[in-house]
Amino acid sequence: MYCYRNKKIVQAYLVHHIIEIKQDYSKRIDTGNLIYLTNSNHQRIHELYNKDKQTKDQTQRLLQSLLLKFKQEYCSNFNRTLNDGIGGFKKF
Ligand SMILES: [Zn+2]
Repeated sequence: MYCYRNKKIVQAYLVHHIIEIKQDYSKRIDTGNLIYLTNSNHQRIHELYNKDKQTKDQTQRLLQSLLLKFKQEYCSNFNRTLNDGIGGFKKF
């Protein structure tokens, strides 16, 4: 998993609910609400969540945009690989 804070690939240890379960129970298994984090980043995020409502909202929006960015990058690479494979078949 890519660590955005340190700009390197690190082992992800846990999954964080961007919108917390106590805030919206229906989002507990929504993959658009789950993000893998290292222990230290997870701790940091909860510190920001606990600071005040505005900081929490900002942090949640940031996490949502990071998650979207990651999915777009990952999915576009995946689609390209699929297209290359199909392109290769046409040569036969
Ligand atoms: Zn968490």
